[in-house]
Amino acid sequence: MKRLIFATHNQGKVKEMKDILGGLEVEVLSAEEAGVFEDVVEDGKNFEENALKKARFIVEKTGGWAIADDSGLCIKALDGAPGVHSARWAGDREIANLVEYTLDKMKNIPEEERSAYFESAAALCAPDGRHWFFSGTINGQISLEARGVDRPKLPYDLIFIPEGYDKTFAEMSDVEKNSLSHRGVAFSRLKKFIEEMTE
Ligand code: IMP
Repeated sequence: MKRLIFATHNQGKVKEMKDILGGLEVEVLSAEEAGVFEDVVEDGKNFEENALKKARFIVEKTGGWAIADDSGLCIKALDGAPGVHSARWAGDREIANLVEYTLDKMKNIPEEERSAYFESAAALCAPDGRHWFFSGTINGQISLEARGVDRPKLPYDLIFIPEGYDKTFAEMSDVEKNSLSHRGVAFSRLKKFIEEMTE
């Protein structure tokens, strides 16, 4: 394995993934950097199905090793929504309005019932079709208002407070968020696997 291509067009995810996978003796490229500009339809039932679909698409297009993340926010009081629909559940609204939309749905929910978690399924896919999954979850709660500075295409950072903290992801540095986030956990596991594999 010389190159690893990350199947996403989400610049926020690209930045996080490059930080988390830094130090690997493998070149890590975004889909665009590898010349892939199209997207797959994310119609899987769960995070793993979507992650595998995205990674397989990159393998088909490039013939190289691929990784993908499918992730989302699951809110207990909303029966697990938005879940796999996190990027799109507010219909055609602008991405900035996802936060407003979510806070509005939660407006009658008291502080002690605002628990939620972020989940990430990371898929690693080999050119010969073999694949592996790595998961990461972080529990927390939805804040009463948006706080901090959000990251590109990662709007819920403004309203997610990880368990044991009193600040949102958007009030944390990149290093602090990556050390505990769902994607940080999933991709650290994937990184360890690749290190062992390429030893
Ligand atoms: P997908 O995995 O490309 O389907 O998109 C996942 C969506 O979940 C993103 O577009 C965000 O809206 C949301 N999401 C996933 N991870 C995070 C995060 O770390 N912070 C904020 N929002 C996130």
